This record gives sequence, C-alpha cells and structure tokens, in this order.
Amino acid sequence: AKNDLRRPWRAYQQSMSERAVSRFALRNDLSTALAGNALSLHYQPVVDMKTGGVVAFEALSRWQHPLQGAIPPDSFVPLAEETGLIVPLGRWALRQAVADFEHLRQLATPPCRLLRVAVNVSALQLAEPDFTADVAAVLESSGMAPASLCLEITESSVIDGTGRTLEALRDLKSMGVSLAIDDFGTGHSALSYLPDMPFDVLKVDKSFIDTINTSTARAEIVRGIVGMAAAVGMRVVAEGIETREQAQLLREASCHYGQGYLYSKPLPLAKAVSEFGPAQEP
Ligand code: C2E
Ligand code: CA
Ligand code: CA
Ligand code: CA
Repeated sequence: AKNDLRRPWRAYQQSMSERAVSRFALRNDLSTALAGNALSLHYQPVVDMKTGGVVAFEALSRWQHPLQGAIPPDSFVPLAEETGLIVPLGRWALRQAVADFEHLRQLATPPCRLLRVAVNVSALQLAEPDFTADVAAVLESSGMAPASLCLEITESSVIDGTGRTLEALRDLKSMGVSLAIDDFGTGHSALSYLPDMPFDVLKVDKSFIDTINTSTARAEIVRGIVGMAAAVGMRVVAEGIETREQAQLLREASCHYGQGYLYSKPLPLAKAVSEFGPAQEP
C-alpha cells in the first residue's frame, strides 16, 4: 500500500494504458461480434397498467463475449458510440427486431390489436443522412406496418440534437413510425419542447419510478407528467417497475403503460413466445 502511495502517477499511467488496450481489444471484439452471431436481442414486455395485458416488446441488445461472458449494454453501447460501431449495431438491431416481429405480433393481449416492437436508436444513428431511408427500406421489404415499429430516442439526444435530428424525427413520424422519448426525467428536462416534438410515447425513467413510493409529492409529479403528456397527445410508459406498490401508485397516477421486472425481465425471443404466447394444450 505504501508503494502505491509513492507512485500514484505510475499506477494511474499503467491502469490508463491497460484500459486503452482492453478498450481497443473490446472494440475489435465488438466488430467481430457484429460480423458473427455473438449479439442477440432480448425482449421485455410493455403492459397495460389497467389490465396487465401485453401491448409491446422492447428489443434490448445482448453481447455474449467468447472469453468475458455477457457484457452489459451499459458498457458496450457507449463503446459502440465512441467508435462509430453503433451505426452498424443499430442497423443490425433494427433488422433483427423487424424479423422477430413475425413471432412477437401474436403475443398481443386482447383488446390490444396492434402490438409494437420498440427499438433503441442512438443520436448518432439519427444524425446519419440515410437513417430514415434505411428504416423505410426495412419496413418495405418486411411488409410490417410502420405503426408497429416504435423507435426510442433518449431525452438527452433530443435536447442535444441538431436541426437534422428533428428533421429525421419528423420524417419518421410522417412515415407512420411511432416514436418514444426514452429516459424522460434524467437530463435537464425542458417540458416546453414537448409540444413541438413528434413523439407518441414518453417513457419515464426508472430513477423516477424507484422513488415514487417515498413521498406523495413524487407520485404527484408522475401524475403531472401523465397529465401533461396526455394534453399533447402522448401516452406514458413507466420504466423499471419492480414492486406491486409502485404499480398501484402508477395506476392511481393514471399512468397508461408499464415495464419492469414485476412483469418480466427481458427474455430471448423463444422464451418470450413461450411465456406470453397462447397457453399450450396440456
Ligand atoms: P433503456 O433503453 O432505458 O432500457 C431499459 C433498461 O432497464 C434495460 O437494461 C432493462 O433490462 C432494464 N430494466 C427493465 N426493467 C427493469 C427493472 O424492473 N429493474 C431494473 N433494475 N432494470 C430494469 P439493459 O438491457 O441492460 O439496457 C441498458 C441500456 O442500454 C438501455 O436502456 C439502452 O439505453 C441501451 N441499449 C440496449 N440495447 C440497445 C440497442 O440495441 N441500441 C441502443 N442504441 N441502445 C441500447
Ligand atoms: Ca429504451
Ligand atoms: Ca429508458
Ligand atoms: Ca435507461
């Protein structure tokens, strides 16, 4: 320990270069994973808060590293964004989710007729000049109704976005694609921008839901968000619901939809189908 204190700079340097090497290696591994089949999508249901019925599935990317095992998206998505690999990764996720939709669409719980599949989109993808054309091409070749596709964009990438971001969002909207604002309430939320934005869905961040049961004021804030969203024609999804108590408070706040471990963790496609599909004959 004494040695470490005497040579803090050297220790720092070492760990920095080690990190650089491992990040470099990881970058290569991620492009290999993209080329092979080490990436997959898991699906987490979005439920109607009143009935508990399934209305949508969110596609979440998973990376099984050959040596390091499962690497969480909170690690590899930022890495992919730094290296530009998010563009091919996002293209892959969109195509995979649209292909899987054929199996997911039957999992809607009546009275929901139009099940949606939601795909996360990075700000860097939106900034690509041919992003909307690519989405149009994927929908066209699959025959999937544009309204069955929901693209989730984080609040921060909307706020930090350029004119190009908004133009892309408007183009997608006019194609009939559904748009969700993700992680709402994390950044420096400026509610005033919402009426000018083409969003259908607002996803309230888990950090908000985590504390909803700690005071009535917090539950009231969510009620306020739901009311405001409804006033501008948006529906609200509460993210990261883990307890019945949270679900009850959200129902009382008139929140439309919910997502979280209380209902289901994200599942591989086959598991989502067996879990939420029509009951099998015994
Ligand atoms: P997100 O879009 O906010 O997704 C929700 C995250 O919360 C997911 O983490 C999900 O597994 C987790 N979650 C859902 N319900 C609960 C709950 O009740 N409790 C807890 N503790 N967690 C819950 P995941 O799958 O690790 O993804 C993390 C983030 O990585 C996502 O956050 C999203 O921002 C990003 N991501 C994942 N896949 C993609 C992708 O294909 N493209 C892009 N651009 N980003 C992705
Ligand atoms: Ca999301
Ligand atoms: Ca989110
Ligand atoms: Ca998040």
